[in-house]
Amino acid sequence: MPTVGRNEEALLQLLNAAPVGLMQTTLDGNIEIVNAVSAKLLLPLAGGAVLNNLFTALGDVAPALRRQVEAFAPVQGLICDGLHIDCPAEQLAGSEMKVLALTLQKTGPDQLVAVLSDITQQVKHEQELMQYQAWSRAALTGAGDHAVATLDSTGLIVDWHCNTDTGFGFVPGQLLGRPYSVFYPEGAITAERLVDRLHEAHTTGWSLDEGWRLHGDGGRFWGSTMIAPLQGRGLPGPAPTRPDDSHTAAPGASAYSLLMRDTTDQRESFEQQRRAGARDELTGMCNRRSFFDAAELEMARWHRVPRPLSLVMFDADHFKAINDAHGHAAGDAVLRRLAELFGRTFRQIDVSARIGGEEFAVLLPSTDITTAESVANRLRLAVMYEQIVVDGVTIRCTVSGGVATMETQVTSVADLIKRADRALYAAKAAGRNCIVRHQGDTAHSIRCA
Ligand code: GH3
Ligand code: MG
Ligand code: MG
Repeated sequence: MPTVGRNEEALLQLLNAAPVGLMQTTLDGNIEIVNAVSAKLLLPLAGGAVLNNLFTALGDVAPALRRQVEAFAPVQGLICDGLHIDCPAEQLAGSEMKVLALTLQKTGPDQLVAVLSDITQQVKHEQELMQYQAWSRAALTGAGDHAVATLDSTGLIVDWHCNTDTGFGFVPGQLLGRPYSVFYPEGAITAERLVDRLHEAHTTGWSLDEGWRLHGDGGRFWGSTMIAPLQGRGLPGPAPTRPDDSHTAAPGASAYSLLMRDTTDQRESFEQQRRAGARDELTGMCNRRSFFDAAELEMARWHRVPRPLSLVMFDADHFKAINDAHGHAAGDAVLRRLAELFGRTFRQIDVSARIGGEEFAVLLPSTDITTAESVANRLRLAVMYEQIVVDGVTIRCTVSGGVATMETQVTSVADLIKRADRALYAAKAAGRNCIVRHQGDTAHSIRCA
């Protein structure tokens, strides 16, 4: 009917003028009305397929969405409000990582209205702001104990001053000539990361991190460490002595200053901020976005100074069957237990993340493929032997894993993930509950239980 047609046309014109993506779909996500901005945002995610379903288009980046809608019982109401959706570069055919915000409103028994916008820049600014706040806390806050160490070009302590009587529990003589990792608990920093931070300080002017630190007596405290280059300073002290020094030496500054602060009183707010943006809600593990951030960072480091860097992709086996047999809540409990096992198996410096429904990724800095494979196998065994009791019922679960490692042919994070994924696929094909290592395009070494 011409009148209706004209109305629809007017409505479409109005929708297309909107600066955000607007869309109307059925409860199954089938798209009924879509404006130009939505189409522009979703088409790259649809990977060339026809854009006719919202959940299918977002399937890779927001796999839980369909279920969230299904689980929403009221006839009308807000299903999610400004949900951040991370779209890694590999999903966007080479363009940069994007962050989308999605608001989904149920407007009737079979109607959804979606508002979608690109908030990449906003998220970037928020991250910069958080970094600035962390820097301010470390450098400008007067409260708390602090100590200043001078480091040589390789990170060895050549000088130490402290504003407290306790001296963080260290006797100065005990520190001289030792790497500054002496301030970190075991597993919180590696020899390579130690040099990377010097490199970062040299190239950007400063390098800051916040986390658990160590007193001289072995006790932990929450602190920040800021490293800045000291310009034009000739340093006394021992020559670099690390065995592979030529490999790990930080080019650039001949000396650095390290400012360590006790920021115990700020720990809670730091953790809260970090949890809010970077954690997976169900398991508390890193989420997809923080995993990709960390992976990009490690990749950039690898390109500066190549050294072992491996990745394991895990997928829980027959998880659908676990849900079907015990219910979705029990499935969630299993996922939470898996997260605990990841936490126990991997080092603090490894990045373990839940990157999809029952999919996990672990990035292992300073780890070659053989070691990565054996740690992945440890996780597999830990899961296999774990008895997960939910409401009095024991649930058993297994995982499969695919391992890949950085080499010159790997050009991006997406590439590395693809390799690990291929190995994971082979692990599934080999019967599950096993770890497979990526070796070229065809050969795989398989270790099953
Ligand atoms: P495979 O061994 O081939 O991986 O089999 P699978 O059943 O694990 O794989 P499939 O991809 O067919 O199913 C994944 C299942 O994981 C289906 C989905 O309902 C479930 N799942 C995804 N996310 C969650 C979640 O957050 N909680 C729960 N309980 N289940 C989830
Ligand atoms: Mg899966
Ligand atoms: Mg699975």
